[in-house]
Amino acid sequence: MNVLTLVGMGPGDHAGMTFAADEALTAAEVIVGYKRYVQLLQPLYPDKEYVSTGMTREVDRCRDALELAANGKQVALVSSGDVGVYALAGLVYELSVDYPQVEIVVVPGVTAATSGAALLGAPIGHDFAVISLSDLLTDWAVIEQRLDAAAAADFCIALYNPASHKRADYLARASQILLRHKSPETVCGLAYRVGRSGEATALTTLGELHNATADMFTTVFIGNRATRVVNGRMVTPRGYFKSAD
Ligand code: SAH
Repeated sequence: MNVLTLVGMGPGDHAGMTFAADEALTAAEVIVGYKRYVQLLQPLYPDKEYVSTGMTREVDRCRDALELAANGKQVALVSSGDVGVYALAGLVYELSVDYPQVEIVVVPGVTAATSGAALLGAPIGHDFAVISLSDLLTDWAVIEQRLDAAAAADFCIALYNPASHKRADYLARASQILLRHKSPETVCGLAYRVGRSGEATALTTLGELHNATADMFTTVFIGNRATRVVNGRMVTPRGYFKSAD
């Protein structure tokens, strides 16, 4: 049986990778991925054959990986974070119907919601929702509906894809929707380039979030009504000291 391994490489550095991900990449003959991830992996696994494609070539990238596996190569298809979270695992399964001889194995990774949370403190210590602001594959009306519903239910929220060159004002638009239900004082945090050069965090409030800098390597955290700043960290209590609140 030919195997295609889908590997979540974590936020970016070797330390943020699981042992299973490292094993899968060590065992691979060919590593397929978006060129930015391939650049991060090449120094760690210099002897591999690499196949990289640009950002919008996801279908080609998955087909390449399936083709190579069908031809008997030991292939790892990589994504940052977790390979099943706004990444390629689902697409590979959809395309795999044309490659019945290829068995697919998924190796999970540390997703930006948890790696970014760890840098900020403990912002998602209670129920949280993960929402992507990218409207490349999802209608903005659906994104808006989910933002509204998550805010109405007082979820902590991790926002992926908060901005890009073409979508500079999306975070401001999202903040406006969240403000329908959440207070402007709600604690917010931003995690920049986790595990990569330029790693940083910032704290703000929902009322000020529209002024925050965010790009495609930023994950944005919006607290619930109990979230507060403790020693400079963003913390969402689970409720152990409820009676004292
Ligand atoms: N599969 C990835 C998510 C891909 S969507 C995962 O599980 O993490 C891309 C978005 O993920 C980015 O716009 C950003 O919001 C977030 N992200 C990915 N890597 C990041 C990093 N190193 N630091 C901060 N945010 C990151």
